[in-house]
Amino acid sequence: MLDAAQTLSPAVFLDRDGVLNEMVYDPTHGLLDSPRRAEQVVAVHNAKELLLELRLMGYKIIVVTNQPGIAKGTLTSSDLHTVHETLDAALAPATWDALEFCPHHPEFGVACECRKPKPGMLMKAALENHIDLSKSWMVGDGLVDVQAGRAAGCKTVLVTKLKVNVVERFFEMQGAEPDFVVRNLVEVLGCIRGELTFQKCRE
Ligand SMILES: [Mg+2]
Ligand SMILES: [Zn+2]
Repeated sequence: MLDAAQTLSPAVFLDRDGVLNEMVYDPTHGLLDSPRRAEQVVAVHNAKELLLELRLMGYKIIVVTNQPGIAKGTLTSSDLHTVHETLDAALAPATWDALEFCPHHPEFGVACECRKPKPGMLMKAALENHIDLSKSWMVGDGLVDVQAGRAAGCKTVLVTKLKVNVVERFFEMQGAEPDFVVRNLVEVLGCIRGELTFQKCRE
């Protein structure tokens, strides 16, 4: 009989906005925002391929996303559900095992345990999906993703178009250096496969 620990799977936790779906430009505020309607959902280049490869490598796939628009009243639960269904369809035949979202915001209600940079969503998904966090990865495009991944005991990959030395200095100041800094999802896969050796990938 297998030891319980042997039945745990590795996982890749992925941020949603800017990693799996493109951000949406909001001309009213001049900011990049989360998609709120089906027609705003565009999968990031190579997101489908990344998920399919990770699945073949034996990783569970968990999406973890802060969606404070719910607390702020700018996004309904129904809108969010529609965005997730549309993204799921855009990524097919790739799928995720679970999607966790935090609907809270500290200025609009109580502070919660799920909003990244806290690791609550990763911990919950790990329990429910029998995940070994120490063999898992967190992939995101923001500081809070790296912080949440580190707090959960995962390796972290920051995917960003910003200059690596600028990003590294900023993250170091926050005490949250990612294990890897890469530019796109193909390079994310290279990190997780252990193939990337170029300078900006650190370990
Ligand atoms: Mg993001
Ligand atoms: Zn929350």
